[in-house]
Amino acid sequence: MNFELTDEQKMIQEMARKFAEREIAPVAAELDRTHAHPAEICAKMGELGLMGVTIPEQYGGAGMDYICYALAMIEISKACASCGVIMSVCNSLYNFPVYTYGTDEQKLKYLRPVASGEALGCYGLTEAGAGSDPAKMLTTAVPKGDGWVINGTKRFITNGNVAKYCVLAVVTDRAAGYKGISSFIIDFENTPGFHVGKVEEKLGINASGTAELVFEDAWVPAESLLGKPGEGFKQMLTTLDGGRIGIASQAVGIGRAALEASIDYSKAREQFNQPIANFQAIQWKLADMATQLDAAELLILRAAWLETNKKPYEKEAAMAKLLASDTAMWATVEGVQIFGGYGYCKEYPMERHMRDAKITQIYEGTNEIMRLVIARNIIKNR
Ligand SMILES: Cc1cc2nc3c(=O)[nH]c(=O)nc-3n(C[C@H](O)[C@H](O)[C@H](O)COP(=O)(O)OP(=O)(O)OC[C@H]3O[C@@H](n4cnc5c(N)ncnc54)[C@H](O)[C@@H]3O)c2cc1C
Repeated sequence: MNFELTDEQKMIQEMARKFAEREIAPVAAELDRTHAHPAEICAKMGELGLMGVTIPEQYGGAGMDYICYALAMIEISKACASCGVIMSVCNSLYNFPVYTYGTDEQKLKYLRPVASGEALGCYGLTEAGAGSDPAKMLTTAVPKGDGWVINGTKRFITNGNVAKYCVLAVVTDRAAGYKGISSFIIDFENTPGFHVGKVEEKLGINASGTAELVFEDAWVPAESLLGKPGEGFKQMLTTLDGGRIGIASQAVGIGRAALEASIDYSKAREQFNQPIANFQAIQWKLADMATQLDAAELLILRAAWLETNKKPYEKEAAMAKLLASDTAMWATVEGVQIFGGYGYCKEYPMERHMRDAKITQIYEGTNEIMRLVIARNIIKNR
């Protein structure tokens, strides 16, 4: 077993770290406060290849492997979890299905702009009544002329208010149950009958837009169908497996930001005439945070390695997401404790890390659903 990163993996990790430290970290608190969409940062991430890390260059991407993607995600999320999720959604939830299931024509038309960073993508699955159980979705697409007519509302869609393109899951055959779900690539600007609905006010990841997508007799051309009718549910499952590596990486990034800030603070803060880092109670927290974060990162790298080598990784991605997000949540709470009263105040970054960490336990499958996925796999394979 070789734990050494390749030169390419080290290069993107270093590049993402420098970019994040120089251009993202200094404005992260302000982005959180103003809830502003970081358009300039997104454009620069595009120029650096971070919006299409694993997509071949002919379709606008950087042509690297999934390990590179995970390493870069950790660095960007360490600086700003909102920028991390914007990047993750473009890479995992939009690019992946378009690249994996799209025709060459679709890839050139719909993948290239997002993978190259010219435009943002999003992924519309969740509805008001269909969260953990997406097969209960109500949004429909019905054939009409040389296209389809879409009706329904998607909820909680990351980038929904700023994206140009979307991979949208809809029902095309109600009687067929989950086998009647299909995916479409939507070009929002050219879809009459579509508008953005409510944009959510949230606990964290404030610079990432979370919006409703409303389709009222919205017409899309036949060429928008991704794969064949009825393949949408299967496409969704594989898309979310990769997405979970992205969210696990976001979580480790948030956790690492909390750990580094906690180390710096505990060395600088003095009580009882000495740095609080001298107290064993603080040292144990730091040691546990570092250990759990390394364990989570190793699970991420294992899942990313399996993906890169075209081996099954559903269980491993779920394990990585489960441990990484629970660790990020716990480590940021410990971080607030290490900062004492200052940890509770907005002058310091720790409360932001704690608010940002919570979502990683919820989206792209809650951690209860992650446990179901893991249990199903280990019971089936015994
Ligand atoms: C900020 C944000 C961004 C998001 N971005 C996107 C996006 O880009 N695209 C998209 O499609 N969706 C997105 N989502 C939706 C997200 O994926 C869902 O919120 C999530 O899957 C949970 O669905 P739900 O909120 O309906 O909760 P529910 O499914 O109603 O779950 C409520 C609770 O019940 C538990 N539960 C449900 N079923 C079971 C079960 N079988 N066993 C045990 N416990 C169970 C859950 O774990 C949870 O604790 C986003 C959500 C948020 C908040």
